[in-house]
Amino acid sequence: MSNQQEEYNYKLQLPDDAKDNRVLMHSCCAPCAGDLMERMKVSGIDVTIFFYNPNIHPKKEYEIRKEENIRFAEKLGIPFVDADYDVQNWFKRAKGMEWEPERGIRCTKCFDMRFERTALYAYENGFSTITSSLGISRWKNMDQINDCGIRAAKNYDGVSYWTYNWRKAGGAARMYEIAKREEFYKQEYCGCIFSLRDSNNWRVKNGREEIKIGEEFYKEVDIDPNLTK
Ligand code: SF4
Repeated sequence: MSNQQEEYNYKLQLPDDAKDNRVLMHSCCAPCAGDLMERMKVSGIDVTIFFYNPNIHPKKEYEIRKEENIRFAEKLGIPFVDADYDVQNWFKRAKGMEWEPERGIRCTKCFDMRFERTALYAYENGFSTITSSLGISRWKNMDQINDCGIRAAKNYDGVSYWTYNWRKAGGAARMYEIAKREEFYKQEYCGCIFSLRDSNNWRVKNGREEIKIGEEFYKEVDIDPNLTK
């Protein structure tokens, strides 16, 4: 971590209601979680990763994203909780919202489901602070994610959602730098079958090939400088 320590020239401060130094971090994937993991580690925060993403489709994509995250967690010595892939429950929640756009109501339900399970695990395992890597991506609506996280945590006494803006202090740029340095798998859509469909429709309309699962890695692509702003 010595090189990284020079880059992180400040320490994260946990929220005032944190009862100890532990954080349960819901992770959506290695590229989004990488900077959070390193930043918490160099700040001396005792972080545990909670991987609960039954939205990801197909299973092959789910397994690749999960394995990438496990690989990096092992490298940093961060505990990793591998939760269920209860995909049928996810489809039940998404029913009737198949054509909703990204950042719409289907995504609210999707975040709710993932954070409800995170908050429950936190309550049952003595974590007072939960947070998520989802908000670091510029493709996401941070207010929507924070609202879902706060709502989920409210169900459990002593659990609160940390609404830190992970894009701040260079986080948005570092997310891509770490992904490239670690040669993470580069997912090409948000995660669910509907986002895969919509991304492919957009690609076809714009003369591009459809997404090939498991083929692209950050080392092979040039990072658009606009993405790191
Ligand atoms: S687009 Fe992403 S956040 Fe929205 S429902 Fe699909 S997987 Fe969940």
